[in-house]
Amino acid sequence: MKLSGKVALVTGGSRGIGRATALAFAAEGADIAFCHLDDGTQADATAGEIRALGKRALHRSVDVADIAAGRAFAEEAARALGPVDILFNNAGINIRKPFEAYTEQEFDRIVDVHLKGMFFMAQAVYPAMVARGEGCIINVASQRALKGAVNSAPYSAAKAAIMGFTRALAWEATPKGVRVNAIAPGPVVTDLTAAMTPEDRQAFIDALPVGRFGRPEEVAATALLLAGPDGGFYVGATLSPNGGDVMY
Ligand code: NAD
Repeated sequence: MKLSGKVALVTGGSRGIGRATALAFAAEGADIAFCHLDDGTQADATAGEIRALGKRALHRSVDVADIAAGRAFAEEAARALGPVDILFNNAGINIRKPFEAYTEQEFDRIVDVHLKGMFFMAQAVYPAMVARGEGCIINVASQRALKGAVNSAPYSAAKAAIMGFTRALAWEATPKGVRVNAIAPGPVVTDLTAAMTPEDRQAFIDALPVGRFGRPEEVAATALLLAGPDGGFYVGATLSPNGGDVMY
């Protein structure tokens, strides 16, 4: 068991990549607190799957763009399950449209959920990690930060900012025992990509050497590598399971 006795906080854990990662962490021995912003049905199901693995699960509907609510959830998670060892900073949305069509409100919402939400959720768990001299923070960026994409300008910008934030925090956090890294997945089959037009989806598949979208479990495997004992030499890195869409 690679995460035996650990507590992981997963944002956006009800479905998709967050759910797969919560389950992968639980299967390796971690108790899981996760937040989400959907109707609760999927969250209840995911919590049931975590408990079926013999681990504890706590879940709440919390908007990560609401800094006070995110902080309160992190505190509740620590009270209920113990100090948070791993933060999987994953909650995300997209609004797809041409660059010139974005409103200020749409831009703000995308940046608030991704960059502001991840920044302050990390801040919520960081002091306790520093006090204990250990911890792991994984921020979910996107291959769109590396490559760009049509109809996703604010999303691509926010995800690129998350990679910069990851590197900056890694400089501060690593000497204090807290490892900080990012994952930039390529297109993965989730509700997020279900909203793509068939034309956009086919264009993505055509551009992928692997010829298919990824599975959430393939991203969860990268998260497990970074969170577990084999991830100790990754610092400020962005790992990108992306089917060959971006090779570097
Ligand atoms: P998804 O839509 O399947 O799941 C998103 C999760 O985030 C859900 O649990 C939802 O309730 C939660 N959520 C949404 N807004 C929230 C908010 N404001 N506060 C709290 N929770 C919120 O999406 P996914 O594809 O699993 O995406 C997860 C992460 O991976 C996102 O950051 C996304 O940008 C990133 N990503 C996804 C892909 C992909 O192709 N699916 C590719 C690259 C990066």
